[in-house]
Amino acid sequence: MTDSRIFLSPPHLSGKEERAIKEAIASNWIAPLGPHVDAFEKEMATFTGVKSAVAVSSGTAAIHLALDLLGVKEGDKVFCSTLTFVASANPILYQGAEPVFIDSEPASWNISPRALKKAFQDSAQKGTLPKAVIVVNLYGQSAKMDEIIALCNQYDVPMIEDAAESLGTIYRGAASGSFGRFGIFSFNGNKIITTSGGGMLVSNDEAAMERARFLASQARDPAPHYQHSVKGYNYRISNLLASVGRAQLEVLEKRIAARRSIFDIYYHSLSDVPGITFMPELKDTKTNRWLSVMLINETEARVTVSQLLQALHRQNIEARPVWKPLHLQPLFKGAAYYSHRTNEHVAESLFAAGICLPSGSNLTIDQQIRVITCIRQMIEGDMSKRSYLILGKHEV
Ligand SMILES: *Cc1c(COP(=O)(O)O)cnc(C)c1O
Repeated sequence: MTDSRIFLSPPHLSGKEERAIKEAIASNWIAPLGPHVDAFEKEMATFTGVKSAVAVSSGTAAIHLALDLLGVKEGDKVFCSTLTFVASANPILYQGAEPVFIDSEPASWNISPRALKKAFQDSAQKGTLPKAVIVVNLYGQSAKMDEIIALCNQYDVPMIEDAAESLGTIYRGAASGSFGRFGIFSFNGNKIITTSGGGMLVSNDEAAMERARFLASQARDPAPHYQHSVKGYNYRISNLLASVGRAQLEVLEKRIAARRSIFDIYYHSLSDVPGITFMPELKDTKTNRWLSVMLINETEARVTVSQLLQALHRQNIEARPVWKPLHLQPLFKGAAYYSHRTNEHVAESLFAAGICLPSGSNLTIDQQIRVITCIRQMIEGDMSKRSYLILGKHEV
């Protein structure tokens, strides 16, 4: 392995973070509150088009707070996308509640309205409607919000939008993350912008957001001494990290343009290869293309997903399978699950065929050609002399 490592989705600094941190240090605001936290929240609320935002220590913490605010407790059911990272569902367990997993549909790879409807009908019949529905926007792609919201409204069940991967994505003219009773974002190191670790809870329910601030800072009652009446958490973000978040938010549009351009280059350089197709873009949306994901038809490509992953690994290229559906995880053994159709399990098929390609906004064109060459060589043999259709270079 002589070539340098190509990562899946590494952090990409703007150059302004260092000054922001230095200023925060000089002002001595090294606390889990401060002017950068307030400003970061306002900027995220404005960007997302919601009334209020609360900055927290992680996306997972934001989901947990949302469930707590909705009163999810032991024995309650919560519907959740099955094709997602475990962080979407772990907070259901924190509350002692029971996840019910919902399959994906083919156009968005996100929650199937059809499966969701079936799950609602069944639970209404049994008199056990869920307390909340967690809808994930996978790899930057928005779920079919109109259909999903109509169903949630019909059954009067609040929706939490897990937009950890879809910051900056637009669905029918509005920002991803703004559609649920609560929306959550993540600023983990692999996300489209990062604070190294951090998250954001957003909502138009300002009273609930006041409550979120209270719960996220140990639920301290207003009293001269330390007085506590309910269970709280230590979930606020530090002023230092919020300063990094603000510097990152400034370049978000550039990061989206870069990731979309990376997707276009993969698409135009690999779409003619037998057995390769790409994640679609849902109609009336603009995805941030957080990760570029391709599907392999092993029969047509005459190579397996695992052989391709191994070949990329040998070339020091980090590529990953699509998230393993949560209903297949040992952690959630025995949990209820609704498939898209009786004999059509979309998330399982995507898991079997999908490969997430290096998609960092700082990926260079030379690195991307290395990835493309490796894939073409595996499928077509030595085609290294071939010239690629490269649609112009994004700005790094
Ligand atoms: C990253 C991620 C989260 C969790 O965010 P953290 O900030 O890492 O806690 C939740 N849901 C999805 C879909 C994610 O990709």
